[in-house]
Amino acid sequence: MSTDRVYLTFDDGPDPEWTPRVLDVLEQAHVKATFFAIGQHAQRAPDLMRRIHAAGHAVGNHTFSHRHPWFMSQRTARAQVRDGANALSDVLGVAPRFYRPPHGRQRACMSDEAQRCGEQVVLWDISAVDWGPLGAAEGIAKRLDAVKSGDVVLMHDGRNQHNRPDQLLQILPLFLRKLSDRGLQPALLPA
Ligand SMILES: [Zn+2]
Repeated sequence: MSTDRVYLTFDDGPDPEWTPRVLDVLEQAHVKATFFAIGQHAQRAPDLMRRIHAAGHAVGNHTFSHRHPWFMSQRTARAQVRDGANALSDVLGVAPRFYRPPHGRQRACMSDEAQRCGEQVVLWDISAVDWGPLGAAEGIAKRLDAVKSGDVVLMHDGRNQHNRPDQLLQILPLFLRKLSDRGLQPALLPA
């Protein structure tokens, strides 16, 4: 009996166009994931945010408006984390337990604020690079083939600027089948 786990994460949603499609694919494959949501997106799409939660996926805080962590005052940076957490709590009725900094750029005051909010900081081991000029389906699939046991995998359900959830979705069902064939079981991040 294999216990090899992988941790799928989707950032920058909820996105009214793309998140429902990602949810449908995950549901068909009986897979649970963690969604790092942007607070102001959650406020704009509260029903969609609740659908993520109700489907049994985990939710993480990805700040209120996804500003780059390095280019704001410490006071504003802390507020980005706190306001993001509050936006998700208000919509879901429960506090997020994970935090991921925008662009993966860690800043001490923001990690500290996340911990004050009861959130564990989570980065990733492998990125699909499902954005920008490299974000075409074929390249995404190739990068995801390298996922191994224990990896936290970064993908994007939110269009936010230059992400390519349209490209990711072309290969997501096949990726999930390959994981299953390899005995890798997607699981929620351990709290
Ligand atoms: Zn992001």
